[in-house]
Formats: sequence, C-alpha cells, structure tokens
Amino acid sequence: MEGMERMNSLGHKQAGYICGASTGVLLNLPAWECILVGALATVTAGGKTSPDFDQTKTYRILLPKALEGHRKLTHWWGWPVLLLLAIIVYWYLFRPENWWLIVYSALLLGWASHIAIDWIFGGAGYGRGAGVPMTPLGNHRGLLGHRHGFKSNGKLAKAMERVIFPALCVGITSVIAIKTIL
Ligand SMILES: [Zn+2]
Repeated sequence: MEGMERMNSLGHKQAGYICGASTGVLLNLPAWECILVGALATVTAGGKTSPDFDQTKTYRILLPKALEGHRKLTHWWGWPVLLLLAIIVYWYLFRPENWWLIVYSALLLGWASHIAIDWIFGGAGYGRGAGVPMTPLGNHRGLLGHRHGFKSNGKLAKAMERVIFPALCVGITSVIAIKTIL
C-alpha cells in the first residue's frame, strides 16, 4: 500500500517542531513564542494537514486524475518559496500585526520542513523518482539523486524518528528553558 512507505507523521511533526522552535531561538523571540512557532509548525509538518494531504480521499476527489498521486503536486518545493515571497510582499504593503506574521510563518515553516524531510527520505517507486518534484508536475530529485533515496521506512529514518529527532526536541526545548531562566 502506497501510504505505508511514507515517513511516519510523528517523525515529520518532530522535525517541524525542531525547525519552528529553533527558528524562534535564532530570531531571539520570547520563550513562549518559540514554543508556539514550534507547536504551530507541527500542524503542517505531518499528517492530513501537511503535504501528505495528497493521501486523503478528499484530495483524490478534488483533483483531476492526472495530478493525483503521493509525493507529487503538494510536495513541490516551489509552493513554500512562492508563499514566502507572498508574505514578504504582503508585509511590505500592509504591515500586518506581529501575531499574524508568526502564525503564517510557523505554518509555512512546517510545510517546508515536510518537503525537506521527504527530499532526504523519499525513496523511488510507484512510478516516480526519489525525493520531491522539482517542477509542480514531476521530475523528482532527492538528496541522493533521482534513482535512490533513503527509504522512508528504512533504518536511518527509524533512527531519526526514534532517537535523533526526540533528542533534538528535548535539546531545543531545554535551550529555550535555560534562556528564560538566565
Ligand atoms: Zn510527504
């Protein structure tokens, strides 16, 4: 079954939290905002509200058959880049409130982190190459090229999900806590 070969959404959500919380730390945001950005990023980093929305029934009903398929249209790297440009233009024109920027950026970061993880851990198969599409319609490439990718259910992906990502989640949260106390 196609759904079985994706990286567990828990791994994606952990990566989203790590990206969001560490971006908050790098931008020197207050502790609660770092945690908030991390938490919001988990929403779009894994599961049905992430690029893996392409595995739901709703997606199949919404899209014409030619565009269907897992790790295709929704996994194009260009969407987050276009949305980032959109937010820059919107911010320049309308100077929205800070909270609005934080929510938008956190959700965008989560979505982008999902695509980055699939770029590394997206094996080839099911009629497509490894990684994520370079154009909205295909031409897949991953970290290891077109043919091979680290398997999403392989040993490295499991080690990331079970050991490395949880350790990084604890690590970044500790950094935030220590910064608050100091
Ligand atoms: Zn995916």
